[in-house]
Amino acid sequence: MKELKLFIGGEEVASTSGTMYDNIFPATREVISKVHVASEVDIDKAVASAKLAQKAWAQVSPKERGEILYRAGQILRARNAEIAMEEVLDVGKPIQEADCADVDSAWQALEFFGGGAVTLMSGEYFDLGNGSHAYTRREAIGVVGCIGAWNYPIQGVAWKSAPALLAGNAVIFKPSEYTPTTALTMAKVYKEAGLPDGLFNVVLGYGDVGACLVNHKDIHKISLTGSVPTGKKIMQACSTDLKHLTLELGGKSPVIVFDDADIDNAVSGAMMANFYTQGEVCSNGTRVFVQEGIYDAFMEKLISRTKKMTIGDPRDAEIQIGAMIHEDQFNKVMGYINRAKDAGLELVCGGNSVTVAGCEKGFFIEPTIFTNVPDDAEITTDEVFGAVMGVYPFKQEDEVIRRANDTIFGLSAGIFTLDIQKAHRVIGELQAGTCWINNYNLTPTGVPFGGFKQSGFGRENCHQSLDAYTQIKSVYVEGGDVETFYA
Ligand code: NAD
Repeated sequence: MKELKLFIGGEEVASTSGTMYDNIFPATREVISKVHVASEVDIDKAVASAKLAQKAWAQVSPKERGEILYRAGQILRARNAEIAMEEVLDVGKPIQEADCADVDSAWQALEFFGGGAVTLMSGEYFDLGNGSHAYTRREAIGVVGCIGAWNYPIQGVAWKSAPALLAGNAVIFKPSEYTPTTALTMAKVYKEAGLPDGLFNVVLGYGDVGACLVNHKDIHKISLTGSVPTGKKIMQACSTDLKHLTLELGGKSPVIVFDDADIDNAVSGAMMANFYTQGEVCSNGTRVFVQEGIYDAFMEKLISRTKKMTIGDPRDAEIQIGAMIHEDQFNKVMGYINRAKDAGLELVCGGNSVTVAGCEKGFFIEPTIFTNVPDDAEITTDEVFGAVMGVYPFKQEDEVIRRANDTIFGLSAGIFTLDIQKAHRVIGELQAGTCWINNYNLTPTGVPFGGFKQSGFGRENCHQSLDAYTQIKSVYVEGGDVETFYA
């Protein structure tokens, strides 16, 4: 059986805890690897190695650092298919997605930060007159702890580590316990690309391993992608020594379809906003508001197209809905569906678990649609994190804006309309960090991604990410004599 060891100081090492757990392929529950759980001793060792390596790395020019990142991006690009399959086995998501979205998004981020190194790491100059001036330097924070979620593992590694490393930091990465594989793949790719040992370390294990990073005195910044409850715990823990913090958290985003929308695009958008990765996407638009005039035609097309979706073994290129990540998530999503049914909500599509031939032990759920959902229903207010769409008919623009914003979350929002003025007017009113007009769930490299409200703060996949991994030093330079009031 394959063992996944820790990656510390440029090499794979067994954990000192002596504990391992089974990593399963969610579609079959087959054990695909045994995962070493990091102990505090291992984490101390990783941090010590990172601290040492970071001192030298911060002296390397951004251009040279960028060249290594760029090379790592090219290695990922060349191995896209192989790494996409690793992601399928860990997450249970369809290969048709992993092949074109997950690894792509990772290498694009590496090439973006690597290729733009010189410009991204530049500072400002201030002319203060008479030869005096000031300038700013972007300086590294030191050792940063990055903690990943399980739905987009390799993307998470690249979106966090590329700006962190470009800025001259060293990284300790803890992937989700459910998806440990590709963080280790990334570590080997970085090494092959020429990244000096100690700059990218991987520690494996559960939430307590993440908490160890958060509480470590020599780690000065934490970046988490995860749920709101975990974000709150980490923010509290970071207050002890005022660590820098980036939080990319959950969502319950709205999609608004106006009467004048292109109906086929709106249906495609709503499906992309709900059923990608079995609905396990933070930015999903799970509250679909549809204006009354287009409602019947929209629902007819939506239901007919959703019923054609293919569910099954995610390794099969024809499959569109794979397996839920694990049994608890499967039970959680089925619980939401069953309680909604019991409460008399109008189920118009799906709503059942599925047994797949050849993958009988897998966690499969049909793409599910409820309509006329009350605004205070559980599936309206909670992040379900499964393929469960709620549809909400509406009449007026001001009404839908109020209802769309009535949530603690603020990650994303989408609207479908052909009226350009209305599109920008409504977007200006929506409380969400990442918005789309006439599309949904695209995350082009360079365009900031992140949330408002309890969906977190900080932006990823863009030049602003550098702000989260650097501290600005202002330097004043005197061009004349010191003016003094003292004799
Ligand atoms: P989670 O909060 O359960 O876990 C996230 C990570 O935090 C895991 O690595 C986990 O081991 C670790 N962790 C748990 N408790 C911890 C603690 N006390 N201290 C430190 N680390 C701890 O989330 P999940 O179930 O892995 O992922 C799903 C969630 O992530 C959803 O809410 C989803 O919306 C969100 N998400 C957000 C984004 C985004 O960019 N905004 C992207 C993907 C996923």
